[in-house]
Amino acid sequence: MQTNFTPEQLADPHVAESEAILRKCVHCGFCTATCPTYVTLGNELDSPRGRIYLIKDMLENGRAADAEVVTHIDRCLSCLACTTTCPSGVDYMHLVDHARAHIENTYRRPLMDRLTRNVLAAVLPYPSRFRLALRLANLGRPFKGLLRRVPALKPFAAMLDLAPRSIPAPSTFAKPALYEPQAERRGRVAILTGCAQPVLDPEINAAAIRLLTRLGVEVVVPEGEVCCGSLVHHMGREEQALGAARANVDVWLREIEAGGLDAIIITASGCGTTIKDYGHMLRLDPAYADKAARVSALAKDITEYLASLDLPSHMPRGIAVAYHSACSMQHGQKITMAPKLLLKAAGFTVRDPAEGHLCCGSAGTYNIMQPEISAELKARKVRNIEATKADIIATGNIGCITQIATGTGIPILHTVELLDWAYGGEMPAKLKGLQPAAA
Ligand code: SF4
Ligand code: SF4
Repeated sequence: MQTNFTPEQLADPHVAESEAILRKCVHCGFCTATCPTYVTLGNELDSPRGRIYLIKDMLENGRAADAEVVTHIDRCLSCLACTTTCPSGVDYMHLVDHARAHIENTYRRPLMDRLTRNVLAAVLPYPSRFRLALRLANLGRPFKGLLRRVPALKPFAAMLDLAPRSIPAPSTFAKPALYEPQAERRGRVAILTGCAQPVLDPEINAAAIRLLTRLGVEVVVPEGEVCCGSLVHHMGREEQALGAARANVDVWLREIEAGGLDAIIITASGCGTTIKDYGHMLRLDPAYADKAARVSALAKDITEYLASLDLPSHMPRGIAVAYHSACSMQHGQKITMAPKLLLKAAGFTVRDPAEGHLCCGSAGTYNIMQPEISAELKARKVRNIEATKADIIATGNIGCITQIATGTGIPILHTVELLDWAYGGEMPAKLKGLQPAAA
């Protein structure tokens, strides 16, 4: 694509990067076929190519974002299916990151939109605030119908839809600690506790720590970890996201220097995509660029790390698992085979739902901010999963677990919970009473 930026504009490294990305796009439109919002809405401006044109026009003309650009960029899930499909290697992720930061800096959103986004940014990344908000959600539940009738209040109705009725007790595994290996030592890792996940489903990290230590891996939950920053990063709140990234880089570097780390384990693929990008996010910060690149190189999804441990194979156990690959797993991190191979080796029968490349509509805060599109994508995803007639759904991202669980009665777990069970742990509580159909 031809671009017309001035030398002055290109002196800004963010603009220079976006220009290089834009120049790679050859307008072929292949990406439109796999874009969930284009597939759902059928509008070119809600396709990757359409958004690329909107971003190009806005940046080239040095314009503040307007309502049209904001509408179509806000509808983008950041699922990155377009980057998997694009034959020209267009780095849409960093282009839309730049566009979102530009929107945040140049566009004044309507009052309720600002309020909703401020609430999300002030609550979700902080586990104690998030836990309190979930408790308060029970008080707000009777007003859900009312909230849904006022367009500006729909996000609050969506929050109530997603909020679980009961909140699990906090896990001791979320507290800073050192977990010794229970077998011959094979490595030492840090694990990200995260923000929403330990509140919604503390069993995920508990299962990961139990499994890793049984396999001979020392696990440290370091003091001082914070939210990875992904939620605010996708809102365009760059300073808040970079602040979170710097805090985590400091924490993990301290661990690297104290005891060495073979990996930084992440059990939520949305967070993994962002942490693997810390090196890029902090590339212009001389004090952090190298340190962040070092941290990103150590970041591993739990299934990536487990795949390197050469686990023994088990006999089939007669349980069919529909594997839902989160967008951040398959498109963001390009991890496609490891989770399925691990589940197969553990004795599960793995089934691939149709249209596996399409997002379930969760996408960070998307299911709150864009509830209608999100609901359509969820219904489509659940139809495809249920068609597999699986006994269980496995996935690697808490956002997908929360989203899909509100649309189906099939139990949905994190892949590591099934692996922990298969390799010596207890059966996950969600599966008590499971009566598998013949796998
Ligand atoms: S990130 Fe996803 S929703 Fe956004 S343009 Fe790409 S394919 Fe479409
Ligand atoms: S597939 Fe790639 S090159 Fe083709 S229009 Fe989409 S982003 Fe541009």
